Amino acid sequence: MTNYKPVTEEVLEELRKAVGAEHVKNDAETLERYKTDEEPDAHYHHLPEVVVAPGSTEEVAAVMKIANKYLVPVTPRSAGTSVSCGAIPVFGGIVLLMERMNKIIKLDTDAMYMEVEAGALTSDIQAKANEAGLLYAGDPCSADSCMIGGNIATNAGGNKAVRYGTTRHQVYSIEVVTPTGEIAELGNRLKKCSTGYCLDQLVMGSEGTLGIITKATLKLLPLAPYRLDILAVFTEVQKAVDLVPALVKAGLNPTSVEFMDNGFVRAASDYAEQRLPHYEDGSYVIVTVETFNEDELDMKMEQLDEICTACGATDVVEADERVWKVRRSCLEGSKALSKVSTSDDLVVPIDKIAVCLNHLMEVSKQFDFECMCLAHAGDGNLHFNCLKMDMTDEEWEKQLAEFHKICYAYVYSLGGRLSGEHGIGAKKIDALAAYCDPVEMSIMKTIKRAMDPNNILNPGKLIRA
Ligand SMILES: Cc1cc2nc3c(=O)[nH]c(=O)nc-3n(C[C@H](O)[C@H](O)[C@H](O)COP(=O)(O)OP(=O)(O)OC[C@H]3O[C@@H](n4cnc5c(N)ncnc54)[C@H](O)[C@@H]3O)c2cc1C
Repeated sequence: MTNYKPVTEEVLEELRKAVGAEHVKNDAETLERYKTDEEPDAHYHHLPEVVVAPGSTEEVAAVMKIANKYLVPVTPRSAGTSVSCGAIPVFGGIVLLMERMNKIIKLDTDAMYMEVEAGALTSDIQAKANEAGLLYAGDPCSADSCMIGGNIATNAGGNKAVRYGTTRHQVYSIEVVTPTGEIAELGNRLKKCSTGYCLDQLVMGSEGTLGIITKATLKLLPLAPYRLDILAVFTEVQKAVDLVPALVKAGLNPTSVEFMDNGFVRAASDYAEQRLPHYEDGSYVIVTVETFNEDELDMKMEQLDEICTACGATDVVEADERVWKVRRSCLEGSKALSKVSTSDDLVVPIDKIAVCLNHLMEVSKQFDFECMCLAHAGDGNLHFNCLKMDMTDEEWEKQLAEFHKICYAYVYSLGGRLSGEHGIGAKKIDALAAYCDPVEMSIMKTIKRAMDPNNILNPGKLIRA
């Protein structure tokens, strides 16, 4: 482990020269603001020593050179919507803000790609593509507030991953500043390529431990003009999750298949001030299909209705934006019910989602906290939110640790993994060390040490190098 050094006046002076004095802040209020991301539990919080906001790739590279020279750790931060403590500076040092690098550089509608700076807001990218009749298919539920660099760093998933894949599938290439301060262009705008290691894919999803993404060239797709959202309501959870394999087998190629149990239905509806059918007792499956012609949409609508009814849906209604407002309010809605809560992100093979969800919801009943579940069901990705109720801090921590232990062992027994989209961050670093194949862990550490010999970039995340 590197023996990090404090941020001295000498370091501050070099940083000011590199990015401009107005973009280097170490007043108490600024430091306080960046001690956490979405993490409410103070136990994980850590103050940075300085917050630096570079305005160009060259300035990011200069900051990394200074950090290596003085052995000061650097935590890259986009919008700070991480729910795995990814943007928390667990060793202090520099928080590197990407927010000034927020331009959409180029939109090529003929070749269907967009070049962006890493601090561009995801929803701005989506809107810009839509205005041109195109689709940027990355769509995390936090799209209104997160940035593309954060999405690429975490390989964010979201609502459309079942059809289009996760963020890494939407990216042609990235410009990266390496941990030692070199600038590299990784990947290319090619449909196929067998030329060397796939380094762009290695950096994507590395949670800011192998490089700072400064720019990206994104893939765009034709925007389907016809769309249908269906809300299928179930009063039995088992039947709701059984719908997923039925949809996959029917070849409907849905854009979204989202599951919410009744706990989430009520919490999110209350938060969004939007009550939909069977608020009191229903679990929801939201299915979206998109097509390029109207007849195909009508055909899929009929098929969807038949499949949902055959699977035991109590109600199948055509939905609109209100249902998505409720879906996007899940996390905030559950947080509103308890000051202390935690959100988990697990992934299993798609054919195991029903058994996994049922088993873990059953297991959760042994504990005193409240547990609710939602799932990007079409991708096998489950989120369990546990809410601290009437229990002591010690009991909460003890019971939560026990629940996680059962969940993680069970998920691995099904061939699953610890995170489908939120990443490991600081929160699951010990769990990954415990469950990861030792050879795989050793390869990851070797790569990290080779690329970041001083362990300067985002230490305390993903792996302990
Ligand atoms: C309400 C809500 C809903 C959410 N829904 C989803 C969802 O549907 N799907 C999903 O996948 N996630 C979701 N998330 C989690 C979060 O929004 C994603 O992980 C998102 O990709 C983080 O983006 P960000 O800009 O906030 O990055 P940050 O939180 O700032 O950073 C995330 C990680 O990436 C690193 N990083 C940031 N920028 C860079 C960069 N330029 N180069 C290298 N490393 C970098 C950070 O160090 C950190 O480890 C949700 C969060 C909230 C609060």
